[in-house]
Amino acid sequence: MDARPPHPLRLHCGAGAPPSRGRLHPESLSPTRTEYQRDRDRIIHCGAFRRLALKTQVFLPGEDAGYRTRLTHTIEVAQIARSIARVLGLDEDLTEALSLAHDLGHPPFGHTGEDALDEALAADGGFDHNAQTLRVVTCLERRYPDFDGLNLTIETLEGLTKRNGPLVAAQTPGGAVPAVPGEIAGFAARHGIDLRTWPGFEAQVAAVADDIAYNAHDLEDGLDAGLFDLSDLKSVPILAEILDGLARSGRSLDDDLTVRALARTMIGLFVEDVVATSTATLPVATPGTRGIASTPRLQAASDEVKAFLRERMYQHPRLLAVRRQAHQIVTDLATHFIAVPADLPEGRGAGRAAEPGSPASGRTVADYLAGLSDTGAIGEHRRLFASTPDLR
Ligand code: MG
Repeated sequence: MDARPPHPLRLHCGAGAPPSRGRLHPESLSPTRTEYQRDRDRIIHCGAFRRLALKTQVFLPGEDAGYRTRLTHTIEVAQIARSIARVLGLDEDLTEALSLAHDLGHPPFGHTGEDALDEALAADGGFDHNAQTLRVVTCLERRYPDFDGLNLTIETLEGLTKRNGPLVAAQTPGGAVPAVPGEIAGFAARHGIDLRTWPGFEAQVAAVADDIAYNAHDLEDGLDAGLFDLSDLKSVPILAEILDGLARSGRSLDDDLTVRALARTMIGLFVEDVVATSTATLPVATPGTRGIASTPRLQAASDEVKAFLRERMYQHPRLLAVRRQAHQIVTDLATHFIAVPADLPEGRGAGRAAEPGSPASGRTVADYLAGLSDTGAIGEHRRLFASTPDLR
C-alpha cells in the first residue's frame, strides 16, 4: 500500500522531502514535476552535460574498447546513488540531480587538465573542478532569458558546493575561510551556506556512489586495458576475498566473465554495506551531520582499492605518457589565451579585455578551456600551434 501523500502534495518536492528553500531567481512551480525533478531535467539538457561524453574519465574518449567516459561514469554514479536513496527513503530526484551534475566542472583530460589549469591560473586564484561546477550551473550555462545558469534549487547548489563533506573545520572561527576556492566561499557567504557542516543526506549518497562507481569501473577498465591482471588484485584483501568467493562458487568463469563478476560483486558489496550502516545512522543523524556511512571494514577496503588504482593504474607508464602530453596541451592553451585574448573565439572573452591587446582575465580563459571537451581542446591546440601531441 502506497503511504505517500496524494499527487498534488508531492509536486513541490519528493515524497516526504521538506519543501525546497527555493531558487536564486523565483519561478512558478511546475504543474507536472517536483522541484528536484526540474533540477535533474535542467542538468540533463544542458550543454556541459552533453560534453561529458567527450571528456576523459581515465582513458581518452573515442577508444573503441568501451572504456568509461565522464558521461558513462556519471550515469553509473546516478544509478548507484538512486538505488541507495530509494532504499533509505531519501529524495531520489535530488540525489539523481546531484549525481548527474557532480562532474560538470571537469576540464578536458580530467585531473590532468585540472592540474594544468590550476598551475597556469595560479595568479588568478587557480582552478578547482568543484568550484567550476558551481560556475557552470550558476552562470556559464546560457539557456534562459531572465538569468544566467540553470537556476537550480538551493538544496542542489548546496549539495554540489559541499559534495565531499565540510570544507572548513568546525573549529575555524567565522570570517576567513582559507583553502576554499574563492568561487565557493563567495557563493556560500552570499547564500547562507555553512561550509562547516555536512551537506544534505542526498549529497552524501551521491558522494559515496561516486566512490563506489569509480573504484569498481576503474578496476574493470584497467583489467580490460591490460594495465594489470586478475592475479595482481590478490594483493588487495577485499578483492582477493571476492575472487576467492567467485572461484568457490562452483561456476568455472573465464577471465572475461570473472572481471564482470568482480565489478558487479564489488558494487553490490559496497552498496549493501552503505545501506545497512546508514539504516542505523540516518534515523539519529541531524541535518548538517554525517548520516551516510560505511562500516570501518569496507571504508578501509575502499581505501585499499584506491591505493591499488593510484599505483597500478593512474601512475601506469602508459597513462603517464598520455597525461604529460595532455598537461602540455592545456598549459599551452591557457598561456596562449591569457597572452592573446583576441584568439579566443568570438563572444568568449575576445571583446572583454579591458584594453585591446591587454591580457585576458584568467577566469575568462579558465571558463572557456574548462568548457571544452578533450576533442575540443586538441582541436584548439591544432588551430593555434604548429604541432600537437598525438596523445599516444
Ligand atoms: Mg566522479
